[in-house]
Amino acid sequence: MVAAELSQLVSPAATALTARIKARALELGFHKVGVVPAAPLSGERGRLEEWLRRGYHGEMSWMERDPERRTDPRQVMPGARSVVVVALNYFTPHEHTPDDPATGKISRYAWGDDYHDVVGGKLKELLAWIKAECPGAEGKACVDIQPLMDKAWAVRAGLGWIGKHTNLITREYGSWVFLGELLLTLELDYDTDVSEDHCGTCTLCIEACPTDAITEPYVVDSNRCISYATIELRAPDIPAEVAAKLDGWLYGCDTCQDVCPWNRFEQPTAETRFEPREGRVSADLAALLELTPDTYAARFRRSAIKRAKLAGLQRNARALKKNQGD
Ligand code: SF4
Repeated sequence: MVAAELSQLVSPAATALTARIKARALELGFHKVGVVPAAPLSGERGRLEEWLRRGYHGEMSWMERDPERRTDPRQVMPGARSVVVVALNYFTPHEHTPDDPATGKISRYAWGDDYHDVVGGKLKELLAWIKAECPGAEGKACVDIQPLMDKAWAVRAGLGWIGKHTNLITREYGSWVFLGELLLTLELDYDTDVSEDHCGTCTLCIEACPTDAITEPYVVDSNRCISYATIELRAPDIPAEVAAKLDGWLYGCDTCQDVCPWNRFEQPTAETRFEPREGRVSADLAALLELTPDTYAARFRRSAIKRAKLAGLQRNARALKKNQGD
């Protein structure tokens, strides 16, 4: 049965509850919310498998595991009937210090508090509210860690489209959004307007990528991606062809998003926890190389940067210094 037919069978109570859940999500500070059935993502599974077959996931072997779980929310939470998909704008009006060779640039998403905590905390609050309103309802909050395909769910829920750089783009906030999902056992009234692709003939992100990691529109080869190399890769050295073109990036890379015309619509977020902490927009390379496990843990407490580990961050700092001939 197609979604349009399904929506005709939805009870007025489900429609009213869905509206209240969306209103509550917005009250909690989420900027966009959509609700879709917890049905498998069939088309996305084929694309994921082709991407894996090409080896574009690099050393992220965990991505090969459980394709069923990655594409079917009922495998993540048995009994799930609905997926509430949320987006949280994280843009703050700060910029990297241009051309300061003593520092390395940090990706915008990691300037403030760890998004897992912020988005996850809000989703848990939403779930608690739903449980209080609907005794017997069960749910599961998912932020990046669980094997769900966030961007595919956001497209299905009408939050935005996946750009040629493979990030989700919203019309209102550009691509500076974190995504999360709440799986629910409740039957709700579903959004049926999937966002159209508004990239058009633009290819700015493909042209701007320092390492040509966008091998074709909508396909990124992680092996060439600065974000992958500086965050996920656990090797003692960054591959030479990527290391030579880091373009000053210490942790992550925003180049494809910085050039995207849709990010002209960026708006400062009201979420103060995303305001940059000291030394988190650009970090002093020499100071990073002096960090010990204890000082590293204290400096990056509650930060997504911990994903790279101390060894990874110092490896990245050494690569940047080497590019400067140091
Ligand atoms: S830079 Fe252009 S092609 Fe790339 S994601 Fe943005 S609009 Fe799409």
